[in-house]
Amino acid sequence: MKEKALFLDRDGILNVDKGYVYKWDDIIWNDDIFDIIKLANEKDYLVIVLTNQSGIHKGMYTRDDVHILHEKMNDFLIKKDLKITDWFYCAEMDSMDRKPNPGMLLKAQLKYNIDLAKSYMIGDKATDVFETDGTFIRPRTFLVKGQYAVTHPDVGSTVSVHDTLGDVSKELRNLL
Ligand SMILES: [Mg+2]
Repeated sequence: MKEKALFLDRDGILNVDKGYVYKWDDIIWNDDIFDIIKLANEKDYLVIVLTNQSGIHKGMYTRDDVHILHEKMNDFLIKKDLKITDWFYCAEMDSMDRKPNPGMLLKAQLKYNIDLAKSYMIGDKATDVFETDGTFIRPRTFLVKGQYAVTHPDVGSTVSVHDTLGDVSKELRNLL
């Protein structure tokens, strides 16, 4: 039996994207994400974060900073009875793991035996739409209009654009 997953971009989805966030004190949560994680938990979807963190490559912060931050974010969510199964990040600029490349997605798929066709992704940039060479099915992807102009050539059946994370939450209620 394969797992289903809800994949989440971090900055702009879990927390406000202030640009290169790496300190707990800079985390401002997007309140709508709590309901989304709760729904996914209740419906037995794994919740997995996939985040580009090129600030490491650029020397702005370290892998340890990211590990510590994710641990604190995870602890905060656990206290709310919310479960994120795993956090993947990509430190490099030139990597198959860097979104929109699918490296992190495929590693998560392998690690947890995930059916991507029955899974979902939420992001706030066009780069959160994974590129696929046709060997795997991209999870249906919700793009939230945040501070970035979100357009993508594949907007249609597998990619949709939404005004707010709350709107995505309502959609997911009908899907998960
Ligand atoms: Mg983002």
